[in-house]
Amino acid sequence: MDSINLKALAKINIGLDVTGIRPDGYHEVRMIMQTVNLFDKVKITRTSDGSITMSTNLRFLPVNDDNLCIKAAKLLLDEFNIKEGVHIDLEKHIPVAAGMAGGSTDAAAVLFGVNKIFNLKLSKKDMMERGVKIGADVPYCVMRGTALAEGIGEVLSPVSPMVKCPVLIAKPGISVSTKQVYNALDDCFENVKHPDIDGLIESIKAQDLKGICSKMGNVLEDVTIPLHPIIADIKDHMLENGAVGAMMSGSGPTVFGFFEDNKTAKAAKEALTKTNMVKQLYLTTMFNNKDYPQKRSDKYDR
Ligand code: ATP
Repeated sequence: MDSINLKALAKINIGLDVTGIRPDGYHEVRMIMQTVNLFDKVKITRTSDGSITMSTNLRFLPVNDDNLCIKAAKLLLDEFNIKEGVHIDLEKHIPVAAGMAGGSTDAAAVLFGVNKIFNLKLSKKDMMERGVKIGADVPYCVMRGTALAEGIGEVLSPVSPMVKCPVLIAKPGISVSTKQVYNALDDCFENVKHPDIDGLIESIKAQDLKGICSKMGNVLEDVTIPLHPIIADIKDHMLENGAVGAMMSGSGPTVFGFFEDNKTAKAAKEALTKTNMVKQLYLTTMFNNKDYPQKRSDKYDR
């Protein structure tokens, strides 16, 4: 195999709670992670000169060791002492620095692709163990689907698959610093509202979309929204246009909305397009590991 085409899927957080702060400054979390069918395209090509190179459609992204794709490729090529190299072409669609684990999912795709191309025979679990060295969300991005993430995000347990419903994803044209959000959280930690993560898991098990939407919560909204009120405006807009629930993903600023049917979701997307609140807007669906692998007609290897 000389090259491989991969989908690097984005995630949203249906629930995000921070339960404590470790002495080393890391935050203990309880998060419900959900993969969605919004993806970056990652093409990995085997090369003979031993170098690891990459290209991307986004000019502001690093294409050196700071890119998580390069880190992931290096990790495996070094460990297995592979003398050949790879070129990675990354076509970004997932909003960057937006709470959707874009970089982590690209890294997970590269682990998967390099494992396949060089026939390293690593299991999913092997790749998850290596992924955590790149970032706390990488093991989840290898695993995919609906999962509870604990620890600093790397302790994963599968949750029964999320209700299949249309998901509208909206990223305003602002940037949020994850570090700033967590620092602000530390200052008001005693006063934030904690979501009912266990109740949320029960509603997911029961496939109860209304129950899920009434219980979903993200503790980081309490600090990100006062800094960027546009996030609340986008949530309100989605709810006014038929979303059953809407919430910020990760540390933001991306907002997602769940809809009961496609017609309402499409109309809400159209209505949001007409405002000047969002820079990137996607209507997508929930990803479920059981539906995979996809039809043979799909040109992707993952
Ligand atoms: P999370 O949901 O895990 O907090 P995020 O959505 O906040 O992730 P990313 O999109 O992964 O954040 O990007 C954060 C930073 O990482 C960017 O500013 C970018 O410079 C750097 N980065 C490195 N590799 C990548 C990559 N492959 N894709 C996007 N960003 C990358």
